[in-house]
Amino acid sequence: MLTTIIYRSHLRDHVPVTVLEDMVVAANEKNSKAGVSGILLFNGKLFFQLLEGPDESVRAIYQTICADERHHNVVELLCDYSPARRFGKTGMELFDLRTYDRREVLQTVMDKGTTRFQLIYNDRALQFFRTFVEESEIENYFEIPPADYWEFIPDTSDASVRTLHTRYSETCSFAFQPIIDPMARERVTLEALIRTPSGEPAQRWFEGLQGDEIYAADLKSKSVAFAMASALGLGEQSLSVNLLPMTLVNVPDAVNYLLQEIAANGLVPEQIVVEFTENEVISRLDDFTGSVRELKAAGIGVAIDHFGGGFGGLLLLAQFQPDRIKINRDLIRDIHKSGPRQAIVLAIIKCCTTLEILISAVGIEKAEEWMWLESAGVSQFQGHLFARPELAGIPAIAWPERTEDI
Ligand code: C2E
Ligand code: MN
Ligand code: MN
Repeated sequence: MLTTIIYRSHLRDHVPVTVLEDMVVAANEKNSKAGVSGILLFNGKLFFQLLEGPDESVRAIYQTICADERHHNVVELLCDYSPARRFGKTGMELFDLRTYDRREVLQTVMDKGTTRFQLIYNDRALQFFRTFVEESEIENYFEIPPADYWEFIPDTSDASVRTLHTRYSETCSFAFQPIIDPMARERVTLEALIRTPSGEPAQRWFEGLQGDEIYAADLKSKSVAFAMASALGLGEQSLSVNLLPMTLVNVPDAVNYLLQEIAANGLVPEQIVVEFTENEVISRLDDFTGSVRELKAAGIGVAIDHFGGGFGGLLLLAQFQPDRIKINRDLIRDIHKSGPRQAIVLAIIKCCTTLEILISAVGIEKAEEWMWLESAGVSQFQGHLFARPELAGIPAIAWPERTEDI
């Protein structure tokens, strides 16, 4: 079994194109020793490379390549396995696209193939060559600056930053974490995340409950969230709360209870968004659809949380249209380096844009993840990069500041 990795990357601006020759000579030697074949395309700015060979060698070489300072924005496009080599000769071969006719270069690459009959156009790897040469995906190549282009400094002078010192309940507490639009420097909504009374994580709170007890407790906890948010000075800002979909289905009169508690805490339904986790929704979709109707009819917004985390997420967009989806951290982790994640998220964005559904990305930890998503058209974010959840409080937000402006 052979491993194939294809990536593309961007030559750093300050690196002269003349280093290319040395690079190829060194790579040729290294690849040959490791039994790896490499085909490198360069168009004057971007690299595109296929590496194939024994799994460990290909991965080791790819890791070294990723760490090479001479290029950046390395995006892995394909990582796959094949029964035989496409390119028999080990080492490294460079095709400088500036010196080739576009059609000619593809033919030349195919001519390098070992088993020529296998190098047909429906081979995924070959398709990637074609796409790169024809530049047909170029609008999806986002070039982002290095991580230190931005600095993230918590704005502790913000008047809304505060912590409550009274206990609001004996059974639970909440931490609050904002969703923000970093470029507009706006808070979009504040999410209430359940905690045990002593501030232990959500999971711990759930562990303390048995069987169906969980649904009533989940619903009832929302009155605590509303009370705390109100005391924190929510004002007219929007508040997001999480609910298990089955809480609405199993607890009689759940929506009325929510409406009553919203009003009792001086809030209005229109400022509340209820988030439901995708995979939980799917398991009881029909029951749940009715509850969503009730919420919407009352003015409460609905968001699909952990979108892309389970199966059938896209189908949910057809079944009922949420006001917002939150793309799961699983899809967002290191998105700047992953072709498949980029493709999935771009498709989600396209779909939601067509349906006028707002998108936020959750669990942003790295500046590069944020920058890539901004380039792709996402503008609302939640994550440790900007603010960690604050127990019984509103945390300071680390707005991105251009490094050179500081
Ligand atoms: P969620 O709604 O997706 O909430 C975001 C979770 O991601 C929170 O975990 C938060 O602390 C965490 N998080 C935020 N930013 C980052 C980041 O940059 N990196 C990483 N790794 N994590 C980040 P938490 O508070 O433990 O909540 C876990 C889940 O529990 C929530 O996920 C939500 O689905 C559920 N949950 C929370 N509160 C409630 C509630 O009142 N009722 C119900 N039914 N579920 C709740
Ligand atoms: Mn949530
Ligand atoms: Mn989550």
